[in-house]
Amino acid sequence: MSAYARLQERLKQGGTVLLDGGVGTEILRRGVYWRGHGLERCPEIVEAVHADYLAAGADLISTNTFQLTRRSYLNLFQGLDHMRRIGPPGLENRAAELTRKAVEVAKRAREKSQRQAAIAGSVSPLQHCYRPDLVPPDADLHREHSETVNQLAAADVDLILLETMNTVREARIALEAARAARLPAWVSFVVDEKARLLSGESLAEAVRAVEPLHPDVVLVNCAPPEDITAALAELRRHRSGPIGAYAHIGHYNPPSWKAGFYPGFSGTEAWPPERYCGVAQKWLALGAQVIGSCCGTTPDHIRALKAALAERQPARA
Ligand SMILES: [Zn+2]
Repeated sequence: MSAYARLQERLKQGGTVLLDGGVGTEILRRGVYWRGHGLERCPEIVEAVHADYLAAGADLISTNTFQLTRRSYLNLFQGLDHMRRIGPPGLENRAAELTRKAVEVAKRAREKSQRQAAIAGSVSPLQHCYRPDLVPPDADLHREHSETVNQLAAADVDLILLETMNTVREARIALEAARAARLPAWVSFVVDEKARLLSGESLAEAVRAVEPLHPDVVLVNCAPPEDITAALAELRRHRSGPIGAYAHIGHYNPPSWKAGFYPGFSGTEAWPPERYCGVAQKWLALGAQVIGSCCGTTPDHIRALKAALAERQPARA
């Protein structure tokens, strides 16, 4: 049975699946310059982050491909011609190359760990995660998400994890792309303090729009822990299938989180693993079957969640 099929089986039986924690923020915390997602110059550190999450007990690791798209590069130019004229040769293909590399690095970490973990290809909104007003027109969403998902499928990920989706429209189109690539998909929404998507749309609308496309899990992520708790309760009201949650900690300090779990820096010290675990227990009580942690969290957070799950479900530890 494949790693993903085993996770699916566990979910069907009412068990819990543990995600990884922050990947991009953890790479930054280890002193890697973000250029090329850390994959060009320090793939060994990206691999070490995955390895540490696997060692901490994650059942699923996500590729370091957040906002790794052709558009992310193109947005820095006037257009493709301008990019070709003043950018280095091959820049238009860099996102595709790095995507391949990101999956390779995750697979290498899994192989060395000898764990049966699943690898999720992480896909984020095409524009900024916190700016639903910038979501591109449908045709662009369809074309660009299909391109990214197909690259991840070609690299042989086990599933697609659509993360931090801030509008119903983009989530639905990205999910269609994942289904067209014949990959299982999970979809996760970024929420505000009123349990709505950042677009102001309700989780009820979001669930209604994605259910016909059969995501295996619907989640909420990348909001502070208390906001995630409120959103999860709302999500439970509208979805009977598996749901999940992973919160961020600390402060978003543009242009990147530049966060990490160490004292006195960006507020992450307010959320040590034990406190985070306390909130995650509420998520389990609300029926979350998938839990993990988002930006600013570390392998220590996942290790603590693993211990809490083991205590709760000795048979599945
Ligand atoms: Zn996040």
